[in-house]
Parts: sequence; structure tokens; C-alpha cells
Amino acid sequence: MVNQQFDGRAWINGERVDARDRATFDCISPVDGRLLTTVARCQQADVDAAVAAARAAFEDRRWSGMAPAARKRVLIKFADQLLVHADELALMETLDMGKPIRYARAVDVNSAANCIRWYGEAVDKIYDEIAPTASTALALITREPMGVIGVIVPWNYPMIMAAWKIAPALAAGNSVVLKPSEKSPLTALRLAELALEAGLPPGVLNVVPGYGVEAGSPLALHMDVDCIAFTGSTRVGKQIHVMAGQSNLKRAWTELGGKSPNIVFADCPDLDKAVEAAVGSIFFNQGESCNAPSRLYVEAGIQDRFLEKALALAPRYAPANPLDSATVMGAIVDRTQMDTVLRYVDTGKAEGASLLYGGEQALTQTGGFYVQPTIFAGVTSGMAIAREEIFGPVLSVLSFTDAADVVRQANQSVYGLQAAVWTRDINKAHGVARALRAGTVHVNQYDEDDITVPFGGYKQSGVGRDKSLHAFDKYTETKTTWIRIDSPV
Ligand code: NAD
Repeated sequence: MVNQQFDGRAWINGERVDARDRATFDCISPVDGRLLTTVARCQQADVDAAVAAARAAFEDRRWSGMAPAARKRVLIKFADQLLVHADELALMETLDMGKPIRYARAVDVNSAANCIRWYGEAVDKIYDEIAPTASTALALITREPMGVIGVIVPWNYPMIMAAWKIAPALAAGNSVVLKPSEKSPLTALRLAELALEAGLPPGVLNVVPGYGVEAGSPLALHMDVDCIAFTGSTRVGKQIHVMAGQSNLKRAWTELGGKSPNIVFADCPDLDKAVEAAVGSIFFNQGESCNAPSRLYVEAGIQDRFLEKALALAPRYAPANPLDSATVMGAIVDRTQMDTVLRYVDTGKAEGASLLYGGEQALTQTGGFYVQPTIFAGVTSGMAIAREEIFGPVLSVLSFTDAADVVRQANQSVYGLQAAVWTRDINKAHGVARALRAGTVHVNQYDEDDITVPFGGYKQSGVGRDKSLHAFDKYTETKTTWIRIDSPV
């Protein structure tokens, strides 16, 4: 039965609206495979309306013209609103995309709120520059908002991915049109309502749910969008750059896939901690994390001991009801993604890797989409499960002999999002970290992180960085104003 509690209508110019042609699509919960609600199926006409609203808001300066300190106050209130509505947002996220409610509440809501607060707080503390010219000139280098920012996000961390883009974009004074994933559209719509309640003027943030080709492409191709900020697969990310070039050469930023190597040397300072991190990080969020350490390289001499410990931990991650506060692994986002994951398990077996744990669908009686935590050993670099992003709870364990060997193997990837190295040797840690082609390299931990550091990838993991003050570079133009001074003295 459709749950009327969840409003799936679009959000344009500060109002809930149906798609122009009243089309909808079904929002199915992966928790039990049942219909959660119906959602506006936005297309070109809806995107046009949202972009027009965003453009009007930008041009009349109702937001872009506000002092940074005033924008800060609204964004901080917006962040507070997320926390006030934390339980509601967490429940929505869990039902919509299947992650355990404990993490939806403790990680997703809190990180999104923290991100919005951080950019709000930052924006009235950033100064522009004066160039070191001769005294006959005053050259100002100022950052200005770009205008209308199109944002397209995936389904794995719907609120966080949206916040990483809309928070710096809004803080800098832009207007935004956000297209959430068709697989998890609900929290983005609710965030926009909360932003209005916090004082964000209508039209500054608009949300157009819908399918990629129907709602995402019109946004990426739009002639009145100044920048498109995308997070998703490398396949679609490449199309986003083409669409930017085919239309108005809008700025295009892409945060894409990964196949991150996690390298454990025999002199790892704490093997138990390394095992916990390796297993915990690949199974966190059902393995649906762009930076999941899905390639685990363990030095040959400690491989047996490592695997024994990993196998002892694996049962802890058995999938269970995401609404139960004790659950640590929930449902895969939908049937299609679950089938993809299971297909990779078959591929791994066919390629000759040894399946040590899991590999099966689980909890079929629920009607939802669950996969056991899965560990393959004996994986080699050429295998598909070592090269391709699976985006599910599947760990591929490989072996290596020395630092040069593992760096060569680790860099043998089209991706370069993250990596990790575990060793007590400081020279080896620095040397390997430098040699790894990745946007972030962790040393003796895997997932410690906060909003102060950039996040993004080398190679086909994308173009540009989310988080930190660097994110402002994506949403601002740099202007030079050269003033001649004919000094009378
Ligand atoms: P996806 O590329 O299929 O979809 C991402 C978004 O793009 C969705 O909103 C989708 O509707 C839209 N889209 C799809 N086709 C489109 C088109 N032709 N034109 C415009 N928009 C289109 O990715 P996904 O399955 O939603 O997400 C998983 C991917 O996201 C993984 O590859 C993962 O690594 C990546 N990801 C990367 C990061 C990062 O920061 N690097 C973070 C999270 C997820």
C-alpha cells in the first residue's frame, strides 16, 4: 500500500508539485520489496521549470545578494533542522535504500547536518585576494557564485552526497537544481522542505526526482545551467562531460567509481585492527560505498593468519532487518543491484577464485534484497572481481611479495579514489603512499575522515573534489578587477 506519510512530489520554487504530465514512478523499499510511495517522474518540462525558478532566484539576488553572514545563519538553521527531524529522516532513508537505521541516524543524518553547518560557518570567514601588482594598480581577485548549479547524486548515501554538493554551492550564493537517484529520492525532497523552513528563499533549492535519462540528462544538457556536479558511476560520469561539452560548456565535476586497494604488510602494527578495518569497511553500507576497500592485498607470509581472523569476523555482518537497531548490514538497494552482485559472485567462481565465505542471497522470505557478506581468496589482478566495481559486500583478497610488487598491482586500475597501507615502517608508509595513484591514502586505518579534507579521485574516479574549502572552487568563478590608480601624490 502506498504510504501517504512520504510525499514523493517534486519541489520547485518552494512548493510541492506533481510532474507536469502527472507521471509517477514506484518507490519500492528494499527492506521488504513493497511499494513505499509513488514519486513524481520529472522530465524535460519539469527540469525547465526548476531551472527557471533557480535562475529567477539567482538573478533577483534574493540569496546570492545576501551577506555571507546572513547566508551562514540560514545554513546553520538548516543543519539544525536536520537534527530536529533526525529520526524521521533516518527512517525514510532506511526504508528507501535499505541501510541499517543505526547508521542512517548516526552517520547519514549527522554527517549531512555537519556538512551543511560547516559550509555555513566557513562562508563568512573566507577572504578574497589583492594581487601583488605595481602601485599604479589595484587588482582584486574575487570569487563570485556561478549561477545555477545542477546536482545529480546516487543512491548509496543520498543525504550525504547531496549535502556535499548543495552545502558549498548554496553557501557560495548559487541556486541549485538537485536530481536525486530514482532509487532513493525521498530524503532529498524532505531536505528541500526543511531548507525553506530554515529561511532559504523559494527557488534557491529545487528538487526534480526522476530517471537519469529523463531528468538527469535534461539538467546536464540545459543551456541555462552553469555547472553540473555529479556523483555516480564512471560510465554515466563520462556522459556528463560529453553533455556539458555538447551544450553550453558548463563546468562539469564528477565523483565516480572506485576499486580501492587496501595493502597490509607483514609488519602491520596491529593485525587485529587491520582485519577489523578490512572486513568492516567493505561490508559497511552493504559494500555500497565508492571508497570501499574492495581489493585487499595481504603480504604472502601473513595471508593464512589474516584470512582466519577475517573469516571469524564475517558472521558478524550477516544481513538482518535494517529497522532493527542492532543490525549492521541491511538490504541491497534494489533487485537489479542485488542481481549484479550475485552475478559477480558467479563470475568470481568461474574465474577460479576461491569462495571462502557467503556468496548467496539471504533473507528471501522477507521479500527484500539481501546478500551475505562474501569473501574471495586466491584472486589475481586480471580477474573481473579484482578490476571492476561490484558495489556490494564482496571482498577480493590478493597476494603480494614486496612494496614494488604491490604498488604495481594496486595502480593497475582505471580507478584511483582511495587506498590504504598498513605498516609500522614509516619509510615504507610514506614511500608507498606517494606511489599510490589515489585521491586519499589511509595509513594504519581505513575510514577515519572528516569534512575538513578533500574527497575525490585520480584517473577515472572523477574530476574535482568534494568536501573541505577546496569544494568552493567548484561553485565559484574567479574574477579579476584591475583598477588603475593615477596617484596625485
Ligand atoms: P549511476 O551513475 O547509475 O547514477 C547516478 C545518478 O545519475 C542517478 O541520479 C541517476 O539517475 C543519474 N543518471 C543515470 N543516467 C544518467 C544520464 N544518462 N544522464 C544524467 N543522469 C543520469 O550511479 P549509481 O548506481 O546511482 O551510484 C553508484 C555509483 O556511484 C558507483 O559507481 C559509486 O562508486 C559512485 N559513487 C561515487 C562517489 C564518489 O564520491 N566518488 C560517492 C558515491 C557513489
